[in-house]
Amino acid sequence: MAKNIIDYKELYKITREVTPLQEDCGLLCGGICCRPDKDNTIGMYLFPGEEVMFTGDEDWLVWEHFHPEEDDFPPSWSYPVYFIKCTRSCPREKRPLSCRFFPLAPHLLSDNTLLLIHETVQLPYRCPLITKRIPLREDFIQVVAYCWQQLLKDGRIRDLVKMDSQDREKYGQKPYILWWENKA
Ligand code: SF4
Ligand code: SF4
Repeated sequence: MAKNIIDYKELYKITREVTPLQEDCGLLCGGICCRPDKDNTIGMYLFPGEEVMFTGDEDWLVWEHFHPEEDDFPPSWSYPVYFIKCTRSCPREKRPLSCRFFPLAPHLLSDNTLLLIHETVQLPYRCPLITKRIPLREDFIQVVAYCWQQLLKDGRIRDLVKMDSQDREKYGQKPYILWWENKA
């Protein structure tokens, strides 16, 4: 198993309370991103090593294990890639990092500058924070940016972010940018 160079405890601690809006954004949409869709496909991948934050016995989670090539992960990833689905509301302090970061996603420019953008992955629901471009809390953006700077120290995560970024550029996607690393 590859060495865990990310301090997931720290990332969970600093993202525990911070939220995209001052108020609960779930009030805008009925918490649609936390509801199972009709085919029960909604779930989250864990980052490599993030599984240390779970016991595996959580009664609100179902676990699936993927081979990296099954779901187009870079060759640097190894089995298993964990995919978790929640069966009911989670204990908030236990939610995985991808829930804490949403609706922000990382994008790496060819010179390795990190941007934070609105998530561009096709979702089975519409998030009003994205569709209405509702301004997000600055402290939320800053904490998510810090987390991504930490996560990108893991070559596997960097490979994935680079791959996704190159795909966006290849397909001419013009993501909505909310944060730009080192921007004066
Ligand atoms: S879909 Fe968007 S607005 Fe609704 S709860 Fe999820 S993050 Fe908040
Ligand atoms: S883990 Fe929690 S925050 Fe994430 S989708 Fe499930 S209920 Fe929502």
